[in-house]
Amino acid sequence: MAALETYDAVVVGGGPAGATAATELARAGRSVLLLDRDGRIKPCGGAIPPKLIREFAIPDGLLVAKITSARIVAPSSRQVDMPIDGGFVGMVDRDVFDEWLRARAASAGAERRTGSFDTLSRDDDGMARVIYHVGPASEKAAHKNSVRTRMVIGADGANSAVARQAVPAAAERPLVFAYHEIVQSPTAGHGDFDGSRCDVYYQGRLSPDFYGWVFPHGETTSIGVGSAHKGFSLRNATRMLRQAAGLDGAETVRCEGAPLPLHPLKKWDNGRDVVLAGDAAGVVAPSSGEGIYYAMTGGKVAASAVEACLATGDARALAQARRQFMKKHGQVFWALRLMQDFWYANDRRRERFVSICRDRDVQRLTWDAYMNKELVKTDPMAHFRIFCKNIAHLTGMVPA
Ligand SMILES: Cc1cc2nc3c(=O)[nH]c(=O)nc-3n(C[C@H](O)[C@H](O)[C@H](O)COP(=O)(O)OP(=O)(O)OC[C@H]3O[C@@H](n4cnc5c(N)ncnc54)[C@H](O)[C@@H]3O)c2cc1C
Repeated sequence: MAALETYDAVVVGGGPAGATAATELARAGRSVLLLDRDGRIKPCGGAIPPKLIREFAIPDGLLVAKITSARIVAPSSRQVDMPIDGGFVGMVDRDVFDEWLRARAASAGAERRTGSFDTLSRDDDGMARVIYHVGPASEKAAHKNSVRTRMVIGADGANSAVARQAVPAAAERPLVFAYHEIVQSPTAGHGDFDGSRCDVYYQGRLSPDFYGWVFPHGETTSIGVGSAHKGFSLRNATRMLRQAAGLDGAETVRCEGAPLPLHPLKKWDNGRDVVLAGDAAGVVAPSSGEGIYYAMTGGKVAASAVEACLATGDARALAQARRQFMKKHGQVFWALRLMQDFWYANDRRRERFVSICRDRDVQRLTWDAYMNKELVKTDPMAHFRIFCKNIAHLTGMVPA
């Protein structure tokens, strides 16, 4: 048994969740292996809020665009602009962003290794053994390798193999699919395109249960849609969206899609030595599909749970990852889920939803909540005004 190959923690997956967890544990002085399969850019709109930029010290140079307003488009094609007062949403390219996060983990002391996780097994002394292969799956048998570890963090995305093997309920998780096309951004002045504005389309033909987006990234732009409806053609919807946005003629750079988890899992750990983080734990915000901030926060709480477990030897500490996360964000996830289930149910409601967004109070509170990741409590009168306006819209007292 190779003593050198025994770690305090192996982090499987080097996306935002895994890279953050590895950084935190390495900074705490733990021996950490960050195992990531290589070669695929994570399909992602790449929008990140200022709170993430501040909290995780993201350098300005990683932002390929700064978005200062959103335009939301109703089924009738009516548009509402929602400017951000004095702030911006950052846009990152995931190939560069994720690699930077992994490099930061390495400079904090984590060991990086390229390889695909296969199985989790147990040695005779009960310690976990992470078995992985290097290179293509077809040559898996020839390039098998393994390491021993006291703890495992499963941060290997929505289809997490670690979750399926260690946390059995994870196997039946519901998934949403999102698909986007990266195109060359048009030059300034082309049609309606604005490189500092995100466009969000609430139209049933583009998504029966989610939305379509046009997110500028400087030289390129991400155009995509998401849906949990089986049989709904995301590619066709994206084609229609490109036409609606005047980007059907733009040069296509890449076409790609990926699943997103629909709900946080009820259990994130195996009560022994494995804990999940990020998409693997199911933490993508309903309504918006935002996952990067929650993945990094998930990586942080998973690292702190693992640290507590290593320090005390008490495996019950692993459960604190989910507890801490849900205490902070559970209410917001619950509210966003209700909002999606109600307002995205049909075009009549979407039309009203877009109408409500004309309201300055709604715009201010929406941006505050997105930028700062908290339900805003500072302006009770604004909440009251919104409540009254919502009632008026729901009862049809105001036209859509
Ligand atoms: C089309 C689309 C658009 C999106 N747009 C946005 C957006 O604009 N803003 C936002 O905040 N969120 C967005 N999201 C969600 C966001 O991308 C995810 O929530 C986020 O990437 C989750 O991070 P993660 O680290 O948990 O997982 P991932 O980013 O999926 O990272 C998982 C990592 O694990 C590795 N891995 C997987 N399997 C193995 C294995 N067997 N062995 C070793 N390594 C493995 C992968 O290579 C990857 O590096 C979008 C998602 C999609 C699909």
